[in-house]
Amino acid sequence: MSEKLIPLPNNHEHWIHKLFSISPSSDGPLVLTEQQYAVYWPLVDGFWMHTNTQRHKHGKSISHYYSCRLGKGRISSKAERFPAENLSGKSRVTSFRSPVECCKMRIKITESIPVPGKFKTYTVEQVIPRDATNCFQHNHTIEESWKRKRSSFLTNIIRDELAKGYTPAQVKDRLKGTGRAGGYERLESVGGAFIDR
Ligand SMILES: [Zn+2]
Repeated sequence: MSEKLIPLPNNHEHWIHKLFSISPSSDGPLVLTEQQYAVYWPLVDGFWMHTNTQRHKHGKSISHYYSCRLGKGRISSKAERFPAENLSGKSRVTSFRSPVECCKMRIKITESIPVPGKFKTYTVEQVIPRDATNCFQHNHTIEESWKRKRSSFLTNIIRDELAKGYTPAQVKDRLKGTGRAGGYERLESVGGAFIDR
């Protein structure tokens, strides 16, 4: 029985990379329509951690601030694990998070409040700290971000497909397909390499 492929949004690799490596551009900030935001943000939301929301006083927009999820450092593959004693005397395993590996990438998404005759938009910009001397990027690969947290796009697909009675292996196959797109296998291109976790 051949299983139908689970559809992925149009041009998704392009959008994933765009929304991963947000940087100041001569074309100005990246502006998404409400529909683009609804389709593409769930593919990348796992990369980011919401930190703050600011409602502008003039009432025309709301800004949502996000930090890279690897901003708190990541457990290095060589992380040393050791049993530490707590006050009750029980031992537990503690892992080190190396501070040098913290990613400083931050973004802001400004949602416009729709008014008659104007569509709602989402403007995505990098937030550059005042003390930054030049622009910077993530200090890790997109795969490390996929590995840290699954996107809600993938989470929803897995939940829906399992509810329909597919097994995890079938879901994986129906995401995989054949061939490569943008240098990636289809499954890898949405972060599915870490689907077993
Ligand atoms: Zn990062």
